[in-house]
Amino acid sequence: MCQEYSRPLVRRVLTDLLDGLRREIQAGLVAHDSLRKAVTSIDTVLESHLRERLEPSLRKVINATGVIIFTNAGRAPIAAEIGRRAADIASHYSNLEFNLAKGERGHRDHHLESRLKRLLDCQAATVCNNAAAALLLILNTQAHGKQVIVSRGELIEIGGSFRLPEIMRKSGAILQEVGTTNKTKVSDYRDAISDQTALILRVHPSNYRIIGFTHRPRLGELVEVSRETGIPLVHDLGSGLLFPSDLPWLKDEPTAQGSLASGSDLVCFSGDKLLGGPQAGIIVGRKSMVEAIRKNPLMRACRVDKMTSAALDLTLAEYEKNSFQRSLPIWMMLSADEQTIQERAQNLKAQLLEAGYVADLAPGSSVTGGGSAPGEEIPTWLLQIQAPRHSAASLEAALRLSSPPVLARIEHDKVIVDLRTVFPEEDSLLLTALREIAHS
Ligand SMILES: *Cc1c(COP(=O)(O)O)cnc(C)c1O
Repeated sequence: MCQEYSRPLVRRVLTDLLDGLRREIQAGLVAHDSLRKAVTSIDTVLESHLRERLEPSLRKVINATGVIIFTNAGRAPIAAEIGRRAADIASHYSNLEFNLAKGERGHRDHHLESRLKRLLDCQAATVCNNAAAALLLILNTQAHGKQVIVSRGELIEIGGSFRLPEIMRKSGAILQEVGTTNKTKVSDYRDAISDQTALILRVHPSNYRIIGFTHRPRLGELVEVSRETGIPLVHDLGSGLLFPSDLPWLKDEPTAQGSLASGSDLVCFSGDKLLGGPQAGIIVGRKSMVEAIRKNPLMRACRVDKMTSAALDLTLAEYEKNSFQRSLPIWMMLSADEQTIQERAQNLKAQLLEAGYVADLAPGSSVTGGGSAPGEEIPTWLLQIQAPRHSAASLEAALRLSSPPVLARIEHDKVIVDLRTVFPEEDSLLLTALREIAHS
């Protein structure tokens, strides 16, 4: 066993196993006749514990929640073909920082910058680890020790400890809040500007919506203030929709193209939200500002890996080809039509009834999630499942513990499955998981 698994690992696992057994014996939990069995089966138990220990911790799951950009489940899945090609680049040497035409050192940003410049018609672009890093870099480069004006209605927290005032503090910039939670006027920005002001920051309130007695200046009005005063305008777009979309649930979502065209000096967004690529923070806009960011030593600490560069390059190429709606999983899910989902759900329902479940189909809604299109709902069909011998909670848990694990939600004592976020080729795996649970 030591040849197969390494001596220290075997020793550690065996020690844990024996300690556990000793504790159980001391607590009187092991009867005399089962003690013999426990001792003689140590070999097999050890082997299975070792195998378990070496299983990869990160695994594929089936997302049946209907939340398309599901942060806890890894946000946007990368297109399978893009993943394969990125892995191929990463498992060989590449021209990551090599200019093949000139035979000299290149910059890893170059691959992505030229594509982003063509796509968004901007002067410059750079890419870092994620959008939080992008914002940190922008603030630290452009506003260290100086003030940044932000509306009180935009001081957001996004899951996973991204809080704007805290990022601001860490960057060394000084937060200058203006307006109120529900109403901020363009004059509030104008009045706050002093010789200490470095930036005006506009933040997309990406995961909530303020309704009722509210006001927020149009981006164009902030551009005017920026032009009059010479204070650059930075737009944290978050979700990263590049261009306007025909999909009704994305009608209010701001776009990178639109923000640049309106006159934002810098725009930053995530790579793994609506863009549908790998985790990354993308900064586009004015050349002098992007170049200053690139020279910031913090950039070196937030740079992206070759696998990310390759996957992002290929993802952006799908936009250049205008094939992204057909090839990027996020976009296939966002645009999947209700009827196809209904047919798949019908099919699954029939087989679940055969397997002894109670199953129904009802109209419902999916959400884009991940800090985009807050409040928008995407019409879908939901499978409502009840098991004869399981409560909803225990069925949900059994699904979570199957292989592959299935994530579903519970509503009114039923397990709800939304096939919008399930890849069509996973339908059969989902059925197998449910059949196995029915027989257990
Ligand atoms: C999601 C989001 C971020 C953080 O993006 P990460 O890529 O997760 O770091 C920042 N700002 C806004 C407005 C967002 O929606």
